[in-house]
Amino acid sequence: MGELIQVTNLTKSYGSVTVLHSLSLQVHSGEIIGIIGSSGSGKSTLVRCIAGLEPIASGEIRIDDTPISKSGGTNRKVGMVFQNFNLFPHYTVGENITMPLKTVLKARPDAAETKAHYLLEKVHLSEKYDQYPSSLSGGQKQRVAIARALAMEPEILIFDEPTSSLDPELSHEVFETISQLAKEGQTMLIVTHQINAIRRFATRILFLNNGAIEEEGTPEDVFSNRENTTLRNFIRQVEFEDL
Ligand code: ADP
Ligand code: MG
Repeated sequence: MGELIQVTNLTKSYGSVTVLHSLSLQVHSGEIIGIIGSSGSGKSTLVRCIAGLEPIASGEIRIDDTPISKSGGTNRKVGMVFQNFNLFPHYTVGENITMPLKTVLKARPDAAETKAHYLLEKVHLSEKYDQYPSSLSGGQKQRVAIARALAMEPEILIFDEPTSSLDPELSHEVFETISQLAKEGQTMLIVTHQINAIRRFATRILFLNNGAIEEEGTPEDVFSNRENTTLRNFIRQVEFEDL
């Protein structure tokens, strides 16, 4: 009771291949969960299931005590930021943020615009309101995508490798924005290989391996784990790539 996200015995398969094996997870409001693990370990599948983007074979996911549909179906309480921004190229930055507000939340145009200006200020991109995404750097596009997700006021914000297509300095500015949200108490699930960034503000780290949570704990616990050689090898590899 009282958990914002409650995943119970979630099993997810693609055809005959099972990618999540009876996985359970509870997340409280205000937690910042860093999700790490090798490519193919099931990180995206897990967060996509929580975001309602995938049908679920067996098990249950509750958001704020309400079960999400087995057949999938997005939930306004859950927002998602993807690796490749997914901004609409033929809309301005401002329109990218106001459009879902008008169409989904039926906001009045002036209210939507006021909110978009406020959110762009928050991600330090006020001056880009009337520009098109093609004129922005990757880091700026990702900050617009974050502003767009925040516009829906999600209780849970999910990031799936938000910086993996960015150069290191642009990646840094995106993590600055995420770190700011962390200070404001936004509940977040963040899939990333950037362990030096995530360890600064995650309240908990999950290490996924073969579709199961193999280790979890505070960043100090997980990143100093000496027993699990799969985890140690993974950390060594991403630290090397992060240099
Ligand atoms: P990660 O995000 O950790 O790299 P994924 O959740 O994307 O892992 O993938 C987990 C496994 O599921 C992988 O073996 C991947 O090939 C498989 N998979 C992911 N999406 C699909 C799909 N739409 N159809 C078939 N197999 C998929
Ligand atoms: Mg992935």
